[in-house]
Amino acid sequence: MNPSLIRLTERVWVYPYEQERDRPNLGYVRGDRLSLAVDAGHSDAHIAEYHAALKAEGLPLPDITVLTHWHWDHTFAMHRVHGLTLANGRTDRHLRAFRKKLACEGVEAFLSMHETIRREYAGNRPVVVTPADIVFSGGIDIDLGGCPVRAFEVESPHTDDGTFVQVPGEGVLFIGDANSGAFPTWQRDATKAKKLADTIRTLDARIVVEGHWTPTTTEDVVNDLLEG
Ligand SMILES: [Zn+2]
Repeated sequence: MNPSLIRLTERVWVYPYEQERDRPNLGYVRGDRLSLAVDAGHSDAHIAEYHAALKAEGLPLPDITVLTHWHWDHTFAMHRVHGLTLANGRTDRHLRAFRKKLACEGVEAFLSMHETIRREYAGNRPVVVTPADIVFSGGIDIDLGGCPVRAFEVESPHTDDGTFVQVPGEGVLFIGDANSGAFPTWQRDATKAKKLADTIRTLDARIVVEGHWTPTTTEDVVNDLLEG
């Protein structure tokens, strides 16, 4: 049976991560007028489950999907999102470059990158890479109706294209995989980790949602980043 949405606050939910197929948490923020997703998901199958979970809760499908970074497990379901996708310029460029690479090298090169990708795409599921509909630089404020959301670029040890999604009224911060090391070695640059810890601390969120872990606290994430 597929998991249900987890409600974090009045306006924020999470569709939980899964290790087997490297599926990240998918966020959901409901405003009075619009709703927003954080990350699109790993494949058409993943986003179909997310949409089914939203329908089961009686929640409208997202109008906007913000991407935390370009990695396949967060973005390759973009061809099936409801509404528009939003990414920073680097994320969009990475997606365009990977789409070109797929066209040149074929799907097998992608599937063989990791066993979790092969599991996600078992049964010849289509691999489709889609650039973003809206590209921002620096930061962008989105008013969902009684619920402001801010998406902004951050420097991170994971990739060079990190975006945070902050829901200040709810005390929630989505950080994607920003606090992890780089794929595939997971080595974490200590200087970048320290800088990221400082950034996260100043945002003062009650709940921090990482890509592949249970929602936690600012203190937890900051301590882990400073441990090296
Ligand atoms: Zn990642």
